[in-house]
Amino acid sequence: MLREIEGNQAAEETRPATELKVGYQGEPGAYGETAAAAHGGIPQGFASFEKVLEALQKGTVDEAVLPLENAVVGAITEALEPLAVAVTSGLDLVATALTSVPVRLALAVRNGTPLNDVKRAWSHPAALRQCTAKLAALGIERVVCYDTAGAAQIVAADSSTDAAICSRRAAERYGLEVLVEDVSDKEQNGTRFVHLRMAEHARAQVPLAFLRTSSMTATSKLEVLTGATLLPLAGTAEFPVRLWVLGADAARLQQLAPARDVQVISLGQPAAHAARHAGKAGAEPVVKSLPHATARKPQTVVEVGPFRVGAGARAVIAGPCTVESPEQVMRIAREVAACGATALRGGIFKPRTNPYAFQGHGLEALKWFVEAGKAVGLPIVTEVMAVDQVTAVAEFANVLQIGARNMQNYDLLRAVGRAGRPVLLKRGAGATVDEWLGAAEYVMASGESRVILCERGIRTFEPSTRNTLDIGGLLAARPLTHLPLIADPSHAAGRADLVEGLARAAWAAGADGIIVEVHDDPARALCDADQALVPQRFAELARALALRPDARLPLAQLRAWVDAIDHDLAALVQRRLEVARVIGESKRQTGKAVLDPRREAAVRRTYHEALPTSNALADKLVDLLIEAARGQQSIED
Ligand code: PEP
Ligand code: MN
Repeated sequence: MLREIEGNQAAEETRPATELKVGYQGEPGAYGETAAAAHGGIPQGFASFEKVLEALQKGTVDEAVLPLENAVVGAITEALEPLAVAVTSGLDLVATALTSVPVRLALAVRNGTPLNDVKRAWSHPAALRQCTAKLAALGIERVVCYDTAGAAQIVAADSSTDAAICSRRAAERYGLEVLVEDVSDKEQNGTRFVHLRMAEHARAQVPLAFLRTSSMTATSKLEVLTGATLLPLAGTAEFPVRLWVLGADAARLQQLAPARDVQVISLGQPAAHAARHAGKAGAEPVVKSLPHATARKPQTVVEVGPFRVGAGARAVIAGPCTVESPEQVMRIAREVAACGATALRGGIFKPRTNPYAFQGHGLEALKWFVEAGKAVGLPIVTEVMAVDQVTAVAEFANVLQIGARNMQNYDLLRAVGRAGRPVLLKRGAGATVDEWLGAAEYVMASGESRVILCERGIRTFEPSTRNTLDIGGLLAARPLTHLPLIADPSHAAGRADLVEGLARAAWAAGADGIIVEVHDDPARALCDADQALVPQRFAELARALALRPDARLPLAQLRAWVDAIDHDLAALVQRRLEVARVIGESKRQTGKAVLDPRREAAVRRTYHEALPTSNALADKLVDLLIEAARGQQSIED
């Protein structure tokens, strides 16, 4: 076994090595066990990396080993994720050593199973990733389980022709035969493990720092400046991209890390730990900045009365580009509210490319807008363009919008952040996702946590649309932030004919909402005439997004709404019949009974759940559908 220990912890170890209990994830025979025994410790297996860390915290074990990176697949996210969670939630760990374990991934089977019969192989996901190509070439499907040695155990206990991907040691331990010595995609396979102790028990340390950030560009600069190894983690919906920095000098990292959005936590720098514990005067703070916009937390729901957006609640904000007159905004408000819009939009200060173009009616128009909002019972969203407008607008508007042109007007961002109103923050036409989140950070750092991010199109070379709606950018922001993300198809397209398609695309991609411009006389609109939907077309969009209209909508339109639903319903029934027929075919081919009363009960439950207001109707529908499906499956009762 190859040992690569940085630092001289072995010499400094005070207790006899035989007493050292070292936790690892997996069953006896796992590679973790080898790493755990590297310094003469007594390995103790746990079912998950979380459990290993828990045991370390409780003192059940003195040390924990976790795999950090592998020669074939790089970062072992399965271990790094729980470690990152533990460290960022305050578990005071120190890295005391690094151990490299050579890895040979044997394909092991029950005695006598020929290679040709092996259709599936079990292993830990990280091990399976290391032999993706080889297994594919052998036509073997990969089955995930919790550990390599655990896989050997499963296969040994099973009567199938499945294989395990594990060490030769594990294969032998569970009485399996090794068919292929190493199915790793790379010849020189190996995994680097880190040894961790609770800070109070740690003596020697290896430099290992943990960096949390949403800013990829900032961190790649750090890589160049520090020469550290950066292991990118996928991150989760709630937690931004994180990077593990091996062998880095945390103090230097601390100095070099850009202030925004980057948090450096050291797991091996005495100075950093001293600063954290003793609070020494003059010591460098360990945490340089704690991001808000990219903090790890559940999805934020921004609420204004009944208006909700985020974490599954979807907003449809509609209204004119500009509040033109009391009558105009009232008429349009009534139209969109009747279609099920959840908030009103309307500009009173307009950022115009041409200084001689109409600039908005200002605070006078705010009064008209407030009246319209009150009349239809919807909150109002309006843009502020200058710091000195903020207080006056915030007094009456429910949500303050920051326009694309002002996304990096930091004084304005700070001012709206202090105004006590939720903020709708448009992405600048030339801003990266990172810069957009940075702008949100300004608002949040100034005190306002209710920020709605809005993708409104970025500037590209394509002249046929005003901007290009960057749904990819919106989706890329999703794992980086807990804030709601909505799309503005109107400013992205600049043309009414594309608005519905773009809105539906954003909706289908999982945006938390849309903001759309509607005008009842586009030809005479004072601003953005080409992109305004007439109310009738907004109604069609609202129908397509499954909004609920109310009784203010004219009867003919309500009928059109219900007709569209009927059409969808009938088409769904048709699809259901087709799939049911295929299920019948599949059952016959595999010799299964076509009738299955348990399935029917499950279908009935589905209908009762989705149709909670009428059990009787749900039952009737299920009866009809099952009868029709039996017809399709040609079952005679
Ligand atoms: C608007 O919403 O009216 C507007 C001007 O949008 P943007 O800032 O996205 O151009
Ligand atoms: Mn506009």
